[in-house]
Amino acid sequence: MEWIILIIGILIGSFLNVCIYRIPNNQSVSYPPSSCSNCNTRIKYYDLIPIVSYILLGGRCRSCGEKISLRYPSIEGLNGILYFLLYNTYGFSLSTLFFMPIVSILIVITFIDYDHMIIPYRLNIMLGILGIINILLGMYPVTAKSSLIGAVLGFGFFFLIAIVTGGQMGGGDIFLMGVLGLILGLGEILMVTVLSFITGAVISVILLLTKIKGRKDPIPFGPFIALSAVLVILFGNDILYFYYKILL
Ligand SMILES: [Zn+2]
Repeated sequence: MEWIILIIGILIGSFLNVCIYRIPNNQSVSYPPSSCSNCNTRIKYYDLIPIVSYILLGGRCRSCGEKISLRYPSIEGLNGILYFLLYNTYGFSLSTLFFMPIVSILIVITFIDYDHMIIPYRLNIMLGILGIINILLGMYPVTAKSSLIGAVLGFGFFFLIAIVTGGQMGGGDIFLMGVLGLILGLGEILMVTVLSFITGAVISVILLLTKIKGRKDPIPFGPFIALSAVLVILFGNDILYFYYKILL
């Protein structure tokens, strides 16, 4: 079963690439079919097999030979692995089904924010709708009270940071924390908050030391929120256990 989930994840990952590329440009994600960004040749259906086609083509466009970014197969693989891990954590359950679209949207948010320094509103709205559906259907066990407090706290805390730092935190980040609070509930959103600052600090230092980013380059915060949320979704209990181990 987990192998089927992995393959489904990789296939959906291929669609996520389309979303990451088109949503910031306000283009439709369903039409037209994919074409090479260099020569505009429509990509043949047999060259659209996730990961496999990339390897068979040697990472180059069949018609013009332009290099295809390694990012495309990486995102396909990443989505597959995350689905696989979700299944490992939650098994054959509604929780797994609930978190599959959520981690995929978080991947899309991460790369759009990294490329464009924005988190599109409709992605946050989609997460919010999933959160409300969960409160109504109870796919992932979280009480309505915990969800609502989580949403207010996630939104409120990052809103405060935005005021204190004079707009260092964008509206998209604030909104994202609100909907994640709604999805995960109070305890988990606190974990996401703490983890996002830890991962943000560590990764920013690495980016500066390796000179990938300069001192004056803005570093988007959305990817750290998304990464932390995925960590909490997959390993929340282990993180708590580890935390108590250190404290007690
Ligand atoms: Zn081409």
